[in-house]
Amino acid sequence: MRLDERITDLKEDIIKSTQEIIRIKSVKEDFEGHMPFGKGVNDCLNYALNLCDGFGFKTKNVDNYAGYGEIGEGSEMIGILVHLDVVPEGDNWTYGPYEGEIHDEKIYGRGTIDDKGPAISAIYAMKAIKDSGILLNKRIRIIFGTDEESGWEGINYYLEREEVPTMAFTPDADFPAIHGEKGILMFDLVKKINKESRVIKIKGGNRPNMVSDYAQAHIKDFDLSLLYEYGKNNSIKVDGEKEGDTTIIKFYGVSAHGSLPESGDNAISKLMVFLDTLNMDDEVGKFIRFYKEKIGMEYYGQSIGCGFEDKESGKLIFNVGVIDFSGDEIKVAVNVRYPVTYEKDAIYDGIKSVTDSDGVKVVETDYMGPIYMPKDHPLIERLMKVYREETGDNREPITIGGGTYARSMENAVAFGPLFPGQEELAHQKDEYIGIDHLMKMTIIYAKALRELLK
Ligand SMILES: [Zn+2]
Repeated sequence: MRLDERITDLKEDIIKSTQEIIRIKSVKEDFEGHMPFGKGVNDCLNYALNLCDGFGFKTKNVDNYAGYGEIGEGSEMIGILVHLDVVPEGDNWTYGPYEGEIHDEKIYGRGTIDDKGPAISAIYAMKAIKDSGILLNKRIRIIFGTDEESGWEGINYYLEREEVPTMAFTPDADFPAIHGEKGILMFDLVKKINKESRVIKIKGGNRPNMVSDYAQAHIKDFDLSLLYEYGKNNSIKVDGEKEGDTTIIKFYGVSAHGSLPESGDNAISKLMVFLDTLNMDDEVGKFIRFYKEKIGMEYYGQSIGCGFEDKESGKLIFNVGVIDFSGDEIKVAVNVRYPVTYEKDAIYDGIKSVTDSDGVKVVETDYMGPIYMPKDHPLIERLMKVYREETGDNREPITIGGGTYARSMENAVAFGPLFPGQEELAHQKDEYIGIDHLMKMTIIYAKALRELLK
């Protein structure tokens, strides 16, 4: 039977399994009993393993840290790397985030696109391969990670103990094939404050890898009409509140993933640019001036010494995610995505050449090296062939700023599930996957597997 037909026959089952897995709230929680990431993640792992088991795949639960389902024979192994955990749902959903409701041919819920929908799609792609009688002289193994959204303990636990695939793809980013992922740096810009200043507190953002949608400052001797006028003149949403002789000023922005600051609107930066207009020359005022001049509203690190780019992967991306000033220290958490041909030290050297003279310390907190494969690498070429045949879209492979499981092993790349031009709803409210989309990607994954089996 042809692969397309087999997958079309499975449509109702694919939808049902997607709804079922969405109904398991798999947000990472604390270690509990034998469940390293809590009950939700654990239930979700068992769900996926049971599904594979029911299809006659060989399965293994790797101590509740990870698991896999496998078909085929032979020494070579094609891996599919997926994750079953999700980020918290957040607020203001139109439909329940853990209901799997269908409206307008779309399945709604946290994890539908990132990454439980794609996990189900890949399981069914394997089932279709198995059912269609294609010669399986290599093994295909889908590996279930359990804390991709924070920590990667699950996938690392697997890689330390279990067989590593010969080659792999991960359906956790965009189509077409992704031949490079930028390097990721997390660091804090820190300045000690020894003297009392006019601004007493600043707070904004939740996570370094997100664009902040809210920031506020507590300031003495402040006339609120100044703020409202500024907001009006610049079309910025602001608000204020008096608390004794202190005023709290509030700036609103638009949240987005830290690798795509252009898609958001950074509330912290807007607040800092405004505060700078007050021309305060105390210690905090000087830091605010530094922020305005060296970061401002920029996304590419131009003024802070790291405006690098290369032809392979484009511009460095610079995102301020969190600011915190209370007591005697200002801390700004930054998330940088740097071009694939650069070394980490070059980025830090560039930044420090600017920050040193302002007495601002750079404190490194986290780091992931870039990955890069030439466009004519056999894995990329084969995935691209299938993508082009199935979509008629002849664009070239791309690089991204996001970090996927492809970084966890050699010979792995991200491949799908989002098609060019589709709205990015991962980590946002009203996340959904279109049923046509789910079916289309399942066909692409099945054909990619068939291609890689050759
Ligand atoms: Zn993901």
